[in-house]
Amino acid sequence: ETIGTNLARTVSSYADREALVECATGRRWTWAELDADVDAVARGLMGAGVRKGDRVGIWGPNSAEWTLVQFATAKVGAILVNVNPAYRTHEFSYVVNQSGMRLLVAATSFKTSDYRAMVAETAADNPTLERVVHLDDEESWAGLLADGDAVPAADLAERSASLAPGDPINIQYTSGTTGFPKGATLSHRNILNNGYLVGEVCRYTEEDRVCIPVPFYHCFGMVMGNLACSSHGATMVVPAPGFDPALTLRAVAEESCTSLYGVPTMFIAEWALPDFASYDLSSVRTGIMAGSPCPAEMMKKLIAAGIEEMTIAYGMTETSPVSMQTRTDDSFDRKVGTVGRVCPHLEVKIADPLTGATLPRGESGEFCTRGYSVMLGYWDDPEKTAEAVDADGWMHTGDLGVMDDDGYVQITGRIKDMVIRGGENIYPREVEEFLYTHPDIEDVQVVGVPDEKYGEELCAWLRMRPGAEPLDADAVRAYASGRLAHYKVPRYVMVVEEFPMTVTGKVRKVEMREVSAERLG
Ligand code: ATP
Ligand code: MG
Repeated sequence: ETIGTNLARTVSSYADREALVECATGRRWTWAELDADVDAVARGLMGAGVRKGDRVGIWGPNSAEWTLVQFATAKVGAILVNVNPAYRTHEFSYVVNQSGMRLLVAATSFKTSDYRAMVAETAADNPTLERVVHLDDEESWAGLLADGDAVPAADLAERSASLAPGDPINIQYTSGTTGFPKGATLSHRNILNNGYLVGEVCRYTEEDRVCIPVPFYHCFGMVMGNLACSSHGATMVVPAPGFDPALTLRAVAEESCTSLYGVPTMFIAEWALPDFASYDLSSVRTGIMAGSPCPAEMMKKLIAAGIEEMTIAYGMTETSPVSMQTRTDDSFDRKVGTVGRVCPHLEVKIADPLTGATLPRGESGEFCTRGYSVMLGYWDDPEKTAEAVDADGWMHTGDLGVMDDDGYVQITGRIKDMVIRGGENIYPREVEEFLYTHPDIEDVQVVGVPDEKYGEELCAWLRMRPGAEPLDADAVRAYASGRLAHYKVPRYVMVVEEFPMTVTGKVRKVEMREVSAERLG
């Protein structure tokens, strides 16, 4: 099945049910209305000369038009290139040229990003880019739709029918947490199945209303959000263009959402709102926390708030994304302390990072995934693809995990983040989980800094709760004394207001390591 044929089934089953709500503007679409608008955009793209396999970019924060373009490109067989809304000219030009983008749909501006100006500034560097449409500029958008007037509906139907599930449909650049983003090329089969199966784990039906504060530019928003909804007839609720904790909880309350998504930092920000107690979250049944290590303390708070079917998912852009997820009926301990079991129709294994040999249960090694969800490859980069996906089809994730006898996995961190102090392997994650239990600490990240004597020492970055006194290294040492092995106790402590983040809400440990080394060295 393709995304287009799947959408057609949802439209025929749930034509008059709500498909999409854009809270910022109050605009609403039923599935029939959404389908009509998707077709108008799809015909516009065809009228603009977009052929099967052409790269069409989308650049901007979450909006209804983003979603329309997502489905429209899928219907005409164009390859949607998600451009990170935080990019500046240098990164933007890289992505345009790396993907060979022909047409771009962009917002005009958002917060400090003037997309229109950046497009103009880079025009000479981006020769493949023939046309730019601004989705929030009435004239520009109407121009695209007008191009479609000359395209008979039958031509669009014919184009859609010519597409195969294995066709590339999407280039998603990874978050860039560990370096320059890589363009994972994904097919209908990859992402549609993943969205559908994630929705199955959350037990979605057409009654569900899913609050999506995570960016569409990332697979969390466009696959686990939009495609999980479209394949189940559930409603996509978009609280705001960018992430805002108060607007997210307001959307949940006002739209009676049954499911809430977020990376851990989003949930932490929402639960820390001074007026948190005033939001009615009683409609929320399930949801997904994913994207980076999910603190057990945060998961406990979600369950305590009555969201008992909350799940944790683990995945990566290269695997469409989800390969592990807790189930709504898992035990409390597994819900809060693991990333669950392997998802349907996939294989996972824990391998020795050096030899590739499968490790026994209980031993820490590199987490690997195989099956329908593994990307077609990195766009135009066979070398990088071969480094990531081996000859047997296993995607090597670069993450460390341990699997128990029942198949539940704990992700202990990224191989690159592991700290080796005096010969002892330390997983920052474990130290972070411990420090989360301190009543004055709101959020914590632990990184390694170079040390002459031990090779590396730990540095803890702390964000304090409002009103709490900053903790220093002595205070942290006193708290950890007798409860954490001495070598895992951070030698350095830095209290900060914010962590360096990616737009997907991930903490950039690479940058934190550099800053720590600079300040302490
Ligand atoms: P880049 O590959 O560009 O450095 P990235 O890996 O952050 O960026 P994504 O594909 O968005 O890009 O994220 C996938 C990664 O996120 C995983 O490899 C893993 O490190 C982390 N991750 C995702 N979900 C979880 C989870 N539930 N627990 C721990 N880590 C997670
Ligand atoms: Mg990655």
